[in-house]
Amino acid sequence: MTNRPKKVALLGSTGSIGRSTLEVIGRSDGRLSAVALSAHSNTELLFQQAARFRPRWIVVTDPAAAESQDWTGLPAETKLLVGPEAIGQIAADDEVETVVSAIVGSAGLLGTWAAIAAGKRVALANKESLVVGGALITRLAREHHAEIIPVDSEHSAVFQAFQAGQRDEVRRVILTASGGPFRTHTAEQLADVTVREALDHPTWQMGPKITVDSATLMNKALEIVEARWLFDLKPDQIAVTIHPQSVVHSIVEYKDGSMIAQLGSPDMKLPIQYALDWPERHEGVATRLDWSQALRLDFEPPDLERFPALELGLEVARRGGTAGAVLSGANEAAVAAFLNHELSFTKIVPAVRAALENHDFDPQPSLARVLELDRWARQEVIRWIGA
Ligand code: MG
Repeated sequence: MTNRPKKVALLGSTGSIGRSTLEVIGRSDGRLSAVALSAHSNTELLFQQAARFRPRWIVVTDPAAAESQDWTGLPAETKLLVGPEAIGQIAADDEVETVVSAIVGSAGLLGTWAAIAAGKRVALANKESLVVGGALITRLAREHHAEIIPVDSEHSAVFQAFQAGQRDEVRRVILTASGGPFRTHTAEQLADVTVREALDHPTWQMGPKITVDSATLMNKALEIVEARWLFDLKPDQIAVTIHPQSVVHSIVEYKDGSMIAQLGSPDMKLPIQYALDWPERHEGVATRLDWSQALRLDFEPPDLERFPALELGLEVARRGGTAGAVLSGANEAAVAAFLNHELSFTKIVPAVRAALENHDFDPQPSLARVLELDRWARQEVIRWIGA
């Protein structure tokens, strides 16, 4: 056994998952090393991260942001690369073993693609990669013998629970959802929720886009599609239960009726560390559950009338093809419009549904076609809001 550190390229190092990933790497006792970091425009934080972790490369994808930062004092061994193409370059570099794909939204797909095409292990936090390009990405991974290890907490839980049996013994998976901040809101109350209320998540600390997605349950819809591709499940093998404490991260039900669940505190450092260390486990840096205290776990079925996003997720998982790209693109545009006070909370899902219904469905699209439809769906939502 060697003590050589595992070399990690971290795409999206300044976001919520990126910062947690660096915490895991920084506390890994030299087991893990960050050899490349990328950010879109938060050059200030990227500069600080480079000073601390001394990677071989840092990438700034927004050239204007790279231009305006003073890079004096960057470690001598760290090279600055500018522009989105550099993401593909670091993801595919020979020196890199594991690529953490943590760029938010469908912008993360190209980094995932480059890493898989280079046969890397991909610790996948960017769910849009599979929502937009599920069929293409999973086929590419088979061709290049690339491993995709989920970082999304629910999928990490399923991945871990799968170790308890054979794949043909699995009856279904049950994804848990916190229910978000509006779990107990009536339909009338939902119509009036503000941006500030939507950004206040009860159990998870995350970026604004995914926090709004948790409030609409669109996050769970995206995760249904993600699970369908990641684990090659039939859509009717995926169920959702509302679990407000976010302690049970998901459940696998086997043929015999046994349910294997993974539990832990709601802390993304746990699934991040699992993905980076897999198949090993090491001392954890995430906060732990305290079994000396009373612990209550509640589960309830989701209310599809108040949270219609779930139905969309199942529908998109069934249709496949270009439906995922439209779901993802339309949702990003609708969430952006909500955050800009241009669209009410309860109109996010109808805006996405309209784009799905109006799109030109293709069951076997190319990468270029799904990317094009992702862009089309954003425009379509803007048109729908204006109409
Ligand atoms: Mg999740």
